[in-house]
Amino acid sequence: MNHEATPYPCQRCGTCCEKGGPSLHLEDRPLVDDGRIPARCLFTIRRGELARDNVKGTLAPLTDEIIKIKGHPGRWTCLFYDRATRGCGIYDHRPLECRALNCRDTRRIEGIYETSRLTRQDLLSGVNGLWELIEDHEQHCSYEDLQALVGEGTRKGRLKQEIKILEILGFDAHVRQLTVERGRVDNRMLDFIFGRPLAETITMFGINLVKKNRAYTLAPTPAFSIKQQVF
Ligand code: SF4
Repeated sequence: MNHEATPYPCQRCGTCCEKGGPSLHLEDRPLVDDGRIPARCLFTIRRGELARDNVKGTLAPLTDEIIKIKGHPGRWTCLFYDRATRGCGIYDHRPLECRALNCRDTRRIEGIYETSRLTRQDLLSGVNGLWELIEDHEQHCSYEDLQALVGEGTRKGRLKQEIKILEILGFDAHVRQLTVERGRVDNRMLDFIFGRPLAETITMFGINLVKKNRAYTLAPTPAFSIKQQVF
């Protein structure tokens, strides 16, 4: 299906760009391939990770990964959005979702939102050695496994499967470090290659990674019920 969208006149209020960068679709691949959207400006939200559906307004675990443009440090505002000028730094080459969005009539964006999303496999499966590393990381660090382990609940106030969960978090951190050190990969690429660090996203299960006396433990966030969150 050809999802090429006709640009709508934009009032430049910036509301959509402030809410976060777009997810990329197959139509956007040339923008990444030729570097108009550098891979270091992207991040992956992996299968099983909680994500907000900006069209439905719901928060739910993803059934398939999506690749998005990063936000400015510490906020969701699209990296290419300039508040001072209310302008888009890649306006002439903005991705499909940005071209399809008309905030006065959302039918076109709703029509394309969940279709032909770009994946890491589309972009990286041809990179020697890297794709195998991503597959290995997915196998060892899946959100489905983490959810199952967290879902086993607590005993005497501690997660029953704390050690296994910490091993997964350790594997995730180790792979990232090795990829930068041995693969000489720019560390700004890591959130695209492996998704965001599990030590950060584990909070979606209502738990935090805590360092105590040089060792790491997991602590439920205040007022959190593990059973409520996971099931
Ligand atoms: S790419 Fe441009 S138009 Fe799209 S969200 Fe970012 S700043 Fe806005």
